[in-house]
Amino acid sequence: MQKQYDIIIAGGGLSGLTAAILFSREHNVLFIDPDAYPRHKMCGEYLSNEVIDFLKTLGIDLDKESSINLDKLQFTALNHKPLSCKLPQGGKGISRYHIDHLLYQKAIEKATFLQDKVLEVSFEASAFLVRTTNQELRCKQFLMATGKRSLLDKRLERDFIQQKSPWLAVKMHYQYEMDEKLVELHNFEGGYAGVSKVENGHVNLCYLASYDSFKKHKNVTDFNNEVLARNKFLNVFLNKAQPVWEQPITISQISFEKKKPVENHIVMLGDTAGLIHPLCGNGMAMAIHSAKIAYEELLPFLKNQITRTEALENYTVTWKKTFQKRLKIGRILQGILLHRSYTRFGLWLLRRFPFLLSTIIKSTHGKPI
Ligand SMILES: Cc1cc2nc3c(=O)[nH]c(=O)nc-3n(C[C@H](O)[C@H](O)[C@H](O)COP(=O)(O)OP(=O)(O)OC[C@H]3O[C@@H](n4cnc5c(N)ncnc54)[C@H](O)[C@@H]3O)c2cc1C
Repeated sequence: MQKQYDIIIAGGGLSGLTAAILFSREHNVLFIDPDAYPRHKMCGEYLSNEVIDFLKTLGIDLDKESSINLDKLQFTALNHKPLSCKLPQGGKGISRYHIDHLLYQKAIEKATFLQDKVLEVSFEASAFLVRTTNQELRCKQFLMATGKRSLLDKRLERDFIQQKSPWLAVKMHYQYEMDEKLVELHNFEGGYAGVSKVENGHVNLCYLASYDSFKKHKNVTDFNNEVLARNKFLNVFLNKAQPVWEQPITISQISFEKKKPVENHIVMLGDTAGLIHPLCGNGMAMAIHSAKIAYEELLPFLKNQITRTEALENYTVTWKKTFQKRLKIGRILQGILLHRSYTRFGLWLLRRFPFLLSTIIKSTHGKPI
């Protein structure tokens, strides 16, 4: 006999864990992830303040968990003088190791965790049949929170998976002395890097690079020395900072193609619905926020007040209204940043009209939820 749940969530990152906490208030929830907690994860680890109050309503007070309040941005490109501004909302420096673990501990108070991988999902007779490596399960509603790219995207033949994904990312924690209120964003040939502190005093260097620029070099060390270090600010960092792990975390095939927030009756959360360019520093907040929207829009369906079709339509409309503009602006900004002459013109413009920088940052973020 297959085990039956109201909600099954594939993926226990920020969006999946937030959804598990919310839905398990009144429903029978299972969330599934192949990895145990705590674990490090690819991320720049700047969490926008727009979700800090909301997390408090879930019982997670990040003011107690991290004293790193990031409120300044320094941007460097092409070895020009750096540009600086105050971050309009600011954010927390908090490692994924810590925040995911906090959410996980809260989630398992009421939801069930299964350490496994979802291999297949199908929708039959008003219910979902979910197959993992070891089990077959059923649920009333299935939520997919599997992040940037997963084998489930392939199984579901989602459109974005057919397109090229020519991006990779690298992350490493270091011992390094820096202003703990500062987020540095440094441009280099074919990519950009963020540098900022997290709760335990370590400094996170996390970058996105095009596969074309990376493939000319043998490995991460060579790429750091030969490409990142051409930016003089990154050169100073790489010479002085002491790595705290033996190896960096790397991921490849990152796609920024458009995705749909609902497919095959499945509600997509976080990066599964759309990945904002990391330079915006808003993906974590969006992941958490998308879970809140899913909860609010699906609750009337779970209480049999509206149909599934209505609930999924409501989720799609609210998701688009909330996130579509940010994703579009992120795409434009990344296009500018990776094009030498556009970057040069952008820098000229921002020096003449410095207020524009904080206006641009505001347009990639939402209001506090
Ligand atoms: C280089 C880089 C830097 C970034 N920096 C920042 C930043 O500084 N600030 C910010 O706000 N955002 C940043 N982001 C974005 C942010 O990391 C993501 O938007 C956020 O992690 C999305 O959370 P999520 O829940 O959608 O996915 P994730 O946190 O990626 O979680 C997905 C989970 O699904 C699990 N999974 C995958 N497949 C399966 C399966 N088949 N079955 C079950 N589980 C599965 C995975 O194990 C994983 O735990 C950055 C992104 C990149 C690429």
